[in-house]
Amino acid sequence: MIEFKDVSFTYSNGVDALNNINLRINDGEFAFIVGNSGAGKSTVVKLLLREVAATSGCVYVNGYNLKKIRKSQVPKLRRTIGVVFQDFRLIPSMTVYDNVAFVLRVIDAPRRYIRKRVPYVINLVGLREKARSYPSELSGGEQQRVALARALANDPALIIADEPTGNIDPELSYEIVELLKEINRCGTTVIMVTHEHELVRYFGGRIINLTAGGIAFDDVIGGSDERK
Ligand code: ADP
Repeated sequence: MIEFKDVSFTYSNGVDALNNINLRINDGEFAFIVGNSGAGKSTVVKLLLREVAATSGCVYVNGYNLKKIRKSQVPKLRRTIGVVFQDFRLIPSMTVYDNVAFVLRVIDAPRRYIRKRVPYVINLVGLREKARSYPSELSGGEQQRVALARALANDPALIIADEPTGNIDPELSYEIVELLKEINRCGTTVIMVTHEHELVRYFGGRIINLTAGGIAFDDVIGGSDERK
């Protein structure tokens, strides 16, 4: 579960990025966070990952109170969250398989688990045939699928997809969101940050609109069946 209680955040240069945000996202939800550039979306993501701490108010993520969390506990918190970035951030010298396995190796996951889990998540994102390929041999959409498989490797409670469709063709963007929806149906909470209004209109669901550091809208809307 995620909860923001009266959260404000001010950068050290004095910019008020978030003002008194109240927000709750339950386990198993899918929420879009939308808003124009500068609205505060990235700041919300940084708070969730505890890259920064709230200037005032409380943030709770997956059972951790981020105001009270000890530094030594932060890696543990982050292991409950899988993150997908706009620019994929794959390791070019590693195959698809190794890109995914790598995140499990660095946390010393048992080898048996890695041998089972990695093919499972690669299969889940539809890339079984590409497991031995390198990122440069894949399309943007496929690379983002690898990034998603990597985010899922450790079976996180929450996936944060930060503008995941920003660098891929519009048609493939729908596939990425469909995949996130499917992952969500299996129980993982998903937060997708995007400024692509067409996608959000198409899929519908819970939309949280940030405007100038505040929540301008937070409600569930119906989807439309029309792809642009
Ligand atoms: P978004 O992700 O919606 O584009 P951000 O969370 O990045 O918005 O930014 C919110 C506000 O905080 C903006 O006014 C932005 O200029 C400012 N901001 C973002 N990052 C920094 C930073 N590292 N230092 C100072 N101000 C920042």
